[in-house]
Amino acid sequence: MTPEDDERVDFEKWFPEIPERLAQELGVTVITEPLQTRHGWCVRGKAATIIRINSNDLPVRRRFTLAHEIAHLAEDDKLEKAAAFDWSVANKGGERAADGLAAELLIPLKWLKAVGLSSPICPKDVKRIAGKANVSLVTTAYRIVSTLNELGLGGIAAVVEFHDDDTVSKKFVSKGTLGSDESVTKLLLRARLRAPDIYRSTPHNGHIVTAGQIETPYSTILFCQRLPAEDALAKTIHEKDALVEDHLFSGDASFKARLSGQFGYFNGRNRSSADPAAAVREFREHYKDKWSPTERKTMASAEATQWLAEKFRLAKFHPKHS
Ligand SMILES: [Zn+2]
Repeated sequence: MTPEDDERVDFEKWFPEIPERLAQELGVTVITEPLQTRHGWCVRGKAATIIRINSNDLPVRRRFTLAHEIAHLAEDDKLEKAAAFDWSVANKGGERAADGLAAELLIPLKWLKAVGLSSPICPKDVKRIAGKANVSLVTTAYRIVSTLNELGLGGIAAVVEFHDDDTVSKKFVSKGTLGSDESVTKLLLRARLRAPDIYRSTPHNGHIVTAGQIETPYSTILFCQRLPAEDALAKTIHEKDALVEDHLFSGDASFKARLSGQFGYFNGRNRSSADPAAAVREFREHYKDKWSPTERKTMASAEATQWLAEKFRLAKFHPKHS
């Protein structure tokens, strides 16, 4: 496969299936089978290029392995020519470069920018991105921390992984340091009490540390930021939602639950409506006869309109550039 430069594949349109489609496009044979000690490996043969993936791993881990092995193959000139992508990071070689490129294939920076994250990041943000990109929570958290500057988030961010006994197993900080392991464990305990919201420390030299606990299938992780106090005190997505929902439903949990089901169903069915405001109108039109007069009135309010539009926007993550 030797396409000219202008015929290169725009891989981003395949999101979130970039690694799978790249493998296909490049004629790689992917074999998923039980492996004893490794997540996966690849061989470049004359007859075929084969990537083997451990079927004992969770699906998101298998996708990471696939992306990682494709990154190794990218050191090969042929692959570089095949897709419109900056392969230079892979050309450095080695495991870290492969992980870096894998992260870009799984969560392209351009897409992540278009998500429009703002500080402070809350566990709900990380979960939503992980879900949309079909990657693990850990990979997502690392991706946000390592692209902090490009995302215009400022401050310092870190992801910390813990052992079962809440001691620190791994720390990854965007720059500088995060403090002693003991202090980070204390941060985890405080964040746990605040879950699913984030914990905010008392200000110190005009800065506040925020921390959100995220439970993954393998371990507990903590997403931390050190931010100027005013940025840290801004409401997270989760806090904003909770405020508006309190106001809209004022304790009517049954309507809230019913509405949530209707939203999920409608959103899954109506992928065509690109404009959140149009989606809100269609949603209201579709369900108005299923709502009581009071519920209808609630849903016609300006707050509900804004709240729903934001839900549609976040659910679809319409990239601003498309
Ligand atoms: Zn490797």
